[in-house]
Amino acid sequence: MTVITNHMPTAELQALDAAHHMHPFTANGELSQKGARIITRADGVHLTDSEGNRILDAMAGLWCVNIGYGRDELAEVAARQMRELPYYNTFFQTTHVPAIALAAKIAELAPGDLNNVFFAGSGSEANDTNIRMVRHYWALKGKPTKSVIISRKNAYHGSSVGSGSLGGMSGMHAQGGLPIPDIHHINQPHWWAEGGDMPEEEFGLQRARELEEAILELGEDRVAAFIAEPVQGAGGVIVPPDSYWPEIQRICDKYEILLIADEVICGFGRTGNWFGSETLNIRPDIMTIAKGLSSGYAPIGGSIVSDEVASVIAGDEFNHGYTYSGHPVAAAVALENLRIMEEENILGHVRDVAAPYLKEKWEALADHPLVGEARIAGMMGSIALTPNKETRAGFAAEAGTVGYICRERCFANNLVMRHVGDRMIISPPLVITPAEIDVLIERASKSLDECYAELKAQDLLHSA
Ligand SMILES: *Cc1c(COP(=O)(O)O)cnc(C)c1O
Repeated sequence: MTVITNHMPTAELQALDAAHHMHPFTANGELSQKGARIITRADGVHLTDSEGNRILDAMAGLWCVNIGYGRDELAEVAARQMRELPYYNTFFQTTHVPAIALAAKIAELAPGDLNNVFFAGSGSEANDTNIRMVRHYWALKGKPTKSVIISRKNAYHGSSVGSGSLGGMSGMHAQGGLPIPDIHHINQPHWWAEGGDMPEEEFGLQRARELEEAILELGEDRVAAFIAEPVQGAGGVIVPPDSYWPEIQRICDKYEILLIADEVICGFGRTGNWFGSETLNIRPDIMTIAKGLSSGYAPIGGSIVSDEVASVIAGDEFNHGYTYSGHPVAAAVALENLRIMEEENILGHVRDVAAPYLKEKWEALADHPLVGEARIAGMMGSIALTPNKETRAGFAAEAGTVGYICRERCFANNLVMRHVGDRMIISPPLVITPAEIDVLIERASKSLDECYAELKAQDLLHSA
């Protein structure tokens, strides 16, 4: 058997990767020509690649490594749990200590009467649970016609058949027969890109009222739930107008439809509170969690469910679950992650130190000639690249062309910043220090300058 180590030459590893490894959300043919970047180690907010480059990870992996890389405590807990009880399930009237302890801890942290946790292995799985749970809830209440779930265009709720259907990514719907029936999408509250001449707050109200219009159109007796991310993440870190969520909450209350807050990114400190729902004043019936729950150290997700919904579901056998629901090693790791977050007051660091400092520096990027707007909510931020700040125009080149050029400049400058179309986004580890934020901003500015120069040289600074 070939032993694959960090010490093989990069080109050999890349060749093996290209020969056998199918990457998610990747044009694999193109990647195999270029060769994937190989990450070998990480500590704090930094990655190290197979060439020895030290890269500042302003995405915290995929929005998940909230406490930063290299925390030995989590490795210790995982090893101890593997020795004691590496696996047992929670089907068939059994349970185990890590699942009990984690569910109780999550119930303590979650607001209101969100006191019940259904575990999954990921955010996608948790949203699949939610689809079945809300429909089953209404069926048990004698209203089986309430099966439609309303979501939003450009939302991201995962990549399984169910969660990908909830999501509103047109590129995903174009492949593999999505969406499943009875999912309805309304427009997103993306003022900068879609608001035109309308004042931002008025636009927020208008987009929220699309929910009411959809309920009336579909019929109140058909609608089970509305799902949304408090702040859209993968869609481009889209911070909604202040007017948006209060109106959404009013509509959900008025028509008695369940509100599912997808907290997979916003949860566990990203917006400065334990949950984005607290930051945005939302009262959800169900919250989807994953990512920051374990800071990405182990795959785990789940649904936090209100007492009302859980008590109805408890009235029948819910024919649903995953082999790894509440996996003991993942649960133990998540619990240790939450212990560290509390003991080190990481929320306090976000609120008092990191988020205010990052906000000031990030918003100043809007002065760059290429940047149309800079938005930030806690520790998730975005900038819109535009050839014309006044008109908020898109580029004439295919969407994403410019964003990709900018991302490549960032990589070359040892900064991971992602692009969504021509929007650049960050979501750094919550533990990032002001000195590290200075480096992040310095590298981002340099990359923007280089991108601007490249667009000029390639004659790409034209409006669509
Ligand atoms: C990442 C994400 C998911 C999917 O989580 P996976 O663990 O990748 O399945 C769901 N919702 C939101 C908001 C996400 O950002």
